[in-house]
Amino acid sequence: MIKVFYNPLQSAQKNESFSPSATKPALVAEAFRKLRGVSIDGNFSPATPELLSQAHEADYVKSILACKKTNGFGNRLPEVAASLPWTSGSMLAAALYAIQNETAACSLTSGFHHAGYNYGHGFCTFNGLMVTAVELLRRGYKKIGILDLDAHLGDGTHDIISTLNLHSKVVHYTFGAEFGTFKTEQEWLDSLTQVIVDKFSHVDVLLYQAGADPHEEDPLGGYLSTKTMQERDAIVFSTCEGLRIPVAWNLAGGYQKPIERVIELHLNTMKECLRAFLKEEEIKTPPLRGVAPILRKTYAIRNWAKWDKTIYESAEDFKKKSGFYPNILLASPTTQQQIDMAANNPKGKAPSGKIQGPEGEPAEGFASISGFVAGDLNLEFCIKEELPKGLFILVYDSDPDGGLPLPEEDNLVEEGAEEAGKRKAS
Ligand SMILES: [Zn+2]
Repeated sequence: MIKVFYNPLQSAQKNESFSPSATKPALVAEAFRKLRGVSIDGNFSPATPELLSQAHEADYVKSILACKKTNGFGNRLPEVAASLPWTSGSMLAAALYAIQNETAACSLTSGFHHAGYNYGHGFCTFNGLMVTAVELLRRGYKKIGILDLDAHLGDGTHDIISTLNLHSKVVHYTFGAEFGTFKTEQEWLDSLTQVIVDKFSHVDVLLYQAGADPHEEDPLGGYLSTKTMQERDAIVFSTCEGLRIPVAWNLAGGYQKPIERVIELHLNTMKECLRAFLKEEEIKTPPLRGVAPILRKTYAIRNWAKWDKTIYESAEDFKKKSGFYPNILLASPTTQQQIDMAANNPKGKAPSGKIQGPEGEPAEGFASISGFVAGDLNLEFCIKEELPKGLFILVYDSDPDGGLPLPEEDNLVEEGAEEAGKRKAS
């Protein structure tokens, strides 16, 4: 079950702004409620002034809550002030839940990343990302990641990290600063897995701003197609699941009209979250109905000496979730070389499987591995160039020689293979 933290009190009942932040959460909650595997939880506390003041100047917090200072929407409405402690409270609740349950959780919030230490602008008043990060550090967690894929620069987040000198404890990536350095959206997308592996592998939790405003039709964004945004979310969630990184994500920006277009993009994000994180006992209907199903799921090798154990356990996990043993393993040449090295090192040899040489004969001496057999599991290794080192994808293809294209995204909880992408393993 994916928990969604939303209390109606976090939506300002009255606001004067171009931003739909005030009305959006209720509409998104309504849309998410219809999805299998989502549960809405309104049972959390608002952030106290003390908690907000850990990440902000105390006087700033006081003035905002007393409506003496203009908020990030450019007004001093008491309805807005009353809602603000609830948005930060929702983000913190989602992060704590994600950490404690080693899963993903969602907070139906926006309006965080432009809020700095003692100022707000751009529809942001308090920085719920940093309020959450600082509170988690206070509770003893060591490293917090912020992956901000909203269209705009997380300038407020950066300001608080600098003011409180948290550079070594809060790892921050903001799309607004990075996207311009890439020539195409595909080039940026291809870099994303590696960014997560390099920057966030060792964080206690990843706070993910899954903004809808990078969309090409957004009046304040205009960069990514709907498909690229789905792939963005698939990469974030499947990589985090593979690396066992808890994720707390929120809505962030989205300004298309009518608002249904924005809701649709947030729904796509939730679907990718469910696809990556939903546990097998929660999948009530069998995943497969069509003929010639092709299923895939991403995993990671964290300890090369136990590469075979990892592959074996991942295959068992795949079987539990899909009902099938995978028959193809996709990995980059670098990962496959690393497996070869580990397999040829006596410490790497474990009883959980038998390696095969290029022609299927048992490997002797230093051998390049082309497959992995253990009981009913019979995996053929195939190359997928762009995967980062350590990540591998298990695939069940009922007709591996049939030439059907492999799906581009993990689809283990999908009901068939209609969504097949365009690349075939070779
Ligand atoms: Zn934005």
